[in-house]
Amino acid sequence: MIAVDWDSCYADGACIEACPTQVFQWYRTEQDVPAIEMANATSEGTGENSMKDARKDYTDKSDPIREHDCTWCMACVSVCPPQAIKVRSV
Ligand code: SF4
Repeated sequence: MIAVDWDSCYADGACIEACPTQVFQWYRTEQDVPAIEMANATSEGTGENSMKDARKDYTDKSDPIREHDCTWCMACVSVCPPQAIKVRSV
């Protein structure tokens, strides 16, 4: 289980770069709309995991859309500046 605290996340993108299995992508990669319009919306995930420059803006968030590919390496946890990521095995 991967949880990203979006109140703490400030779109640094370190987790996206660090993850060896490409679990994360920017939340609005597929749908370039304001975050408020994504409420209750779904993203299928395109596989897009571009680095920091791919974020739409600093309110974009890292989304662990491929959570099932996680290998519990904890790289994302250790590189996140605001320590916004929690990983637990279930
Ligand atoms: S703990 Fe999982 S999500 Fe985090 S970097 Fe490692 S494989 Fe990716």
